[in-house]
Parts: sequence; structure tokens; C-alpha cells
Amino acid sequence: MAGKSVCVRCGTFKKNATATCPSCHYTPESEYEVARSLILSKHSTLGETAIGRDMDELKTIATEIADGQPYYFGAEEQQQVVEAYRAHLATNSKQPSLGFLRWLIPLLLILSLIVALAWPA
Ligand SMILES: [Zn+2]
Repeated sequence: MAGKSVCVRCGTFKKNATATCPSCHYTPESEYEVARSLILSKHSTLGETAIGRDMDELKTIATEIADGQPYYFGAEEQQQVVEAYRAHLATNSKQPSLGFLRWLIPLLLILSLIVALAWPA
């Protein structure tokens, strides 16, 4: 059992929170789905937020889900993890914003050229 995250749907251990479940092929996609997967993962920190469960607890939860008892996620904890996940994504996506600037600067140059040409001095 090498996985460190429990599938929220069937209770199978999988590689990590965002991985596709090897048993039921469920993949968390929305940020709330990812948050629920992160809650059912081995203890870690996302930014300054501690998330997850310890391994013994995860094993109990996995057995319960496999027995057909869905895990109850607290709304507050889910919200906390969603926010930590958003912050985590924001700090890890510097590349796209630079790409955006590279596209924005020529556009501004063209716009100022148009304005300069259309505006009789
Ligand atoms: Zn599954």
C-alpha cells in the first residue's frame, strides 16, 4: 500500500489527492473535490494550513468508505482547504501571468500607436 491518499468515492488508497483512483477511476476535478481528496490524505501542509489525517485514521476512513459509509466532511474544514489550495495554485502559477504580460505589452504599444495616429497634434 504505497498510496497516501484515500479515494473519497470507494476508499481505495491512491498515489496522491489529485490522482485518478486505480479502482473506480474517480478523478477529483473541481476545487471542492480536490479539497475533499486533500482532507483524506496523509498529513501535510499547504502554505500555512495543516491538512489531512494521520495514517491510522486514514485506514479507518478507507475501510468505512469501502463498507459503504461515506465520509462526512465538515463545511468549515472544506472551505479552509479550498482557500489554502487556491493560494497554493496562485503561488505556483507565475508562468501564465508572465505570458500574459508578454502579450499585453505589444497590445499596449499598438494601442498607443493607434491613439497617436488618430489624435492630430
Ligand atoms: Zn475510487
